Amino acid sequence: MPEKEVRTRFAPSPTGYMHVGNVHTALFAWLFARHNHGKFILRIEDTDEVRSTPDALAHIYAGLEWLGLDWDEGPDVGGPHAPYIQSERLESYQAMVRGLVEAGKAYPCFCTPEEIDERRQITLARGVPPRYDGKCKRVDPEERARLMAEGVPYAVNFMMRETGTTTVTDLIRGEVDFENALMGDFVIQKRSGYPTFHMAVVADDHAMEITHVIRADDHLTNTPRHLQLMEALGIEPPQYAHLPIILGPDRSKLSKRHGAVSMIEYKDLGYLPEAMFNFMALLGWSPGEEREVMTREDIVERFSLDACSKSAGVFDIGKAEWINGEYMQILPPEEIARRVMPYLVEAGLFEAEPTAERWAWLAKVCDIMKERAKLLKTYVTWARYFFTDDYEYEERAVEKWLKKVETADTLDALAEKYEAAAWEAEALEAATRALAEEKGVKAAEVIHPCRAAVTGTTIGPSLFHLLELLERETVVGRLRRTAGMVREGKF
Ligand code: GLU
Repeated sequence: MPEKEVRTRFAPSPTGYMHVGNVHTALFAWLFARHNHGKFILRIEDTDEVRSTPDALAHIYAGLEWLGLDWDEGPDVGGPHAPYIQSERLESYQAMVRGLVEAGKAYPCFCTPEEIDERRQITLARGVPPRYDGKCKRVDPEERARLMAEGVPYAVNFMMRETGTTTVTDLIRGEVDFENALMGDFVIQKRSGYPTFHMAVVADDHAMEITHVIRADDHLTNTPRHLQLMEALGIEPPQYAHLPIILGPDRSKLSKRHGAVSMIEYKDLGYLPEAMFNFMALLGWSPGEEREVMTREDIVERFSLDACSKSAGVFDIGKAEWINGEYMQILPPEEIARRVMPYLVEAGLFEAEPTAERWAWLAKVCDIMKERAKLLKTYVTWARYFFTDDYEYEERAVEKWLKKVETADTLDALAEKYEAAAWEAEALEAATRALAEEKGVKAAEVIHPCRAAVTGTTIGPSLFHLLELLERETVVGRLRRTAGMVREGKF
């Protein structure tokens, strides 16, 4: 018999930005689907009428697209189980809820949110874990009919078993038992007629033939509820894998305190999507070997839930930067140039439609910078001097060289030499060394002030190759300008 096609889904709620944790969940569900040649489905869970926004939806698309997590079925591409937006599927949930009420497996709850909250506070004060106390389960049928006829607003609660345990069989965690007595009944349809997350998720995973629910650990306690709900509906449950959550370096839940938590911010910071993909895949999954920089294809091929860890992954931004730096060295300079371009254009440092010649020049810049530029953004910050005369002089360059009045003469003399030199690295090096010899100083005492003046920094790629890439006029102009500033005591 042919094996059943693997179908996973990512089911984000469009409330707020795309948190790194959400993307991590999406990535693992995507990897599992792709590894098994199955389908990856995007479903939008907008049953929170108050908090869902179109802006958040745009963020979800942007985050997934940036990482290259493509979906086979979803709101925009459609599919056999459309619509893929829960607010467009309300009737299907309502029909299920009605069926459960008729079967005596769910009941209307007339308690107002205030009443529920008040009773909850009392339970909490007694030190008992709060759960719905089942008040409306005990309302007699006549009274129930009367309240409904009067039009008293009600929610619908699902009736959980009161004794025994519910076992969740999880592909990462194994078997986890939950005591039914501790869970309590829960709402499946709100007073507004909207389903709760529990109802909608169960209904849709079934309708969309999801075979593997891969989601974050914080949903683990919902799963026994979902299992009981499925049983009441006569639905065969999918398989589950709950992924460990992501922690910050201090091992607390990853939050804004730890830096950017919205995925798309990493794009703005200058990360490459393939590096971020690689980095995120290693959070909670281990390929079982030392090599950590892996292509997307490699990761898809090796991925398995068996190799996923039960313990939380630590979001170590230093490691992300390291992986990014590795990719920046592997990618051809022309490709880096193509990726860097939008950042430069946005910063007003480069033309939006460069000529072939300018592209080739940019690729050369990327080539000499590749060992040092760990992020695409580095080109608009630290390596800005390639693109504009308007760069800052770093503190160290100032302290070490530009505060010394004798530097002015060195820079002017160098400018003179450069006016006559052939404009290529070797000749520039020879001219520089010749000046050092004439002055009877070490070559470093000319080279460092030159770098300080022309780039504003004390470190960077090979100076003479860098000079070669800047035009003679530019270099000579910067040397003279800086010499003037040194003389005028501007540093
Ligand atoms: N909409 C839920 C969330 O964003 C996901 C539910 C699930 O994956 O089952 O947390």
